[in-house]
This record gives sequence, structure tokens and C-alpha cells, in this order.
Amino acid sequence: MQLIDTHTHLYLPEFDSDRDEMVNRAVSSGVVKLLLPNIDLKSIGAMLSAADRYKNICYPMTGLHPTSVTSDFMAQINELEKISSDHKFIAIGEIGIDLYWDKTFLREQMDAFRQQVEFAIKSDLPVVVHSRDAFPEVFSVLDEFAGKKLTGVFHAFSGSMKDAEKAVGMGFMLGIGGPVTFKNSKLGEIVEEAGINNIILETDSPYLAPVPYRGKRNESSYICIINKKIAEIFRISEDESARVTFENSCRLFKI
Ligand SMILES: [Zn+2]
Repeated sequence: MQLIDTHTHLYLPEFDSDRDEMVNRAVSSGVVKLLLPNIDLKSIGAMLSAADRYKNICYPMTGLHPTSVTSDFMAQINELEKISSDHKFIAIGEIGIDLYWDKTFLREQMDAFRQQVEFAIKSDLPVVVHSRDAFPEVFSVLDEFAGKKLTGVFHAFSGSMKDAEKAVGMGFMLGIGGPVTFKNSKLGEIVEEAGINNIILETDSPYLAPVPYRGKRNESSYICIINKKIAEIFRISEDESARVTFENSCRLFKI
């Protein structure tokens, strides 16, 4: 059984004491590829060195996270694009809009998102979208690019059934992780409705650990727990859900 963690921040300090062991645990549990979304200029160095250290396991992305967007976002994006020109990236991410923490820079967040979607299209790369309390705003930016051959994933999908329908209709995947295992989560129904061909798996580690580790540090080997839940939802074997979600991820990220 082979699995992919399509979203892990394993380069963060939370893993400084045991990063090698953690990556080994993932690979020996069958989680053979780990995709690394960037956050901002402060994180990109650590992310690139992790990608270098775990070649053919870790694949880096470039992008400016919406919660790191302030009035100087254009300078940050330019700097990131400059750094990007010397490296190979698997996607533009994570990018998007987050109105949960702060609405001060809504306009800048929308501009930064638009700018980076344009860069993704120009670079022929998929986008990894972070959308929190901001589905109307995210869709309004994405709609501007209708017909432009844009692909991507709504990472840690947290929208409604309607949002899921719209995302899938645009050809986007839903990134599903720990929250699907939470008690009282409606995500299972949304996943079932979306169909397994539109689902990819992610941890968002160190955040969003699945049950029974909820609230603790998350890690890529827990993708097996997410996969088990997905298999349950679709009433198929874990091998089958691993196979389909693996293929979905390879197709999206051109691995
Ligand atoms: Zn993330």
C-alpha cells in the first residue's frame, strides 16, 4: 500500500528533535511521498533544506500563505519568485484567503492570491488553496481565471456541500485530513458526495491531528488513519482507497 501526504509542514521547529525518525516512520508505514507547502519568506529556507535532505520523498512548493500577507505582500511575492527560479517546485502553495484570524488585509489577501494564481498558470503548476471562512472571496478570485486550465486542491477542505460541489465542478480536488475523523464532523458526507476520484489525503502536520491524536502533534504516518476513514466512508478496502487517492495525487501534482 502506497500513500502520499499532500500537505505537511515537516520543516517547522515542531519536528526539529526527531525529523529523521518521523520521516522514517512515514515511509515505513507506506506514506512514501510528502509534499511541502511553503508559508512565507521566513519558512522557505527550512523547507528547501528538508526537500534537499529527503530527496525523492519530499517535494517543495512555493507561495505566500494568506496569514502572512500584509501591505508589503508584493515585495514578498517578488522575492519568493526570485528564489523559485533556482528550484523545481511541485505546486504554488499554500495561497488563498483566511478571514478567520484577521480581516484587516482582505484586499491585499485577494490581490496576493490573484497574483499567485496567475504565476501558477504561467508556470503550468497546480495551486494549493487555503480557504478559511472565505469561500465566496476565494471563488470570486478563481472565477476570474475560468477557462485558463487552472488545477489545484482546496487543502484542509472546510466548506459546505455547495462549496464542495463548486470546487469539484471547477476540476479541483478536496484535500482531506484529520478533521474527517472528528466526532460530529459533517466532512464524511461531503467526501462521499464529492466521490473518491476528487479526494486527496493530507495531514497539514504538525496541525490537525486525527483521532485518537486530536490536539497532539500531527505527523505524516497518520495518513494511514485518514485513509482508513476514507475507506470506511466509501465502503471499500484500505488498499483500494490508497490506490485511488494515490493516483489522484499523482495526476494533480504530475509526480
Ligand atoms: Zn498548511
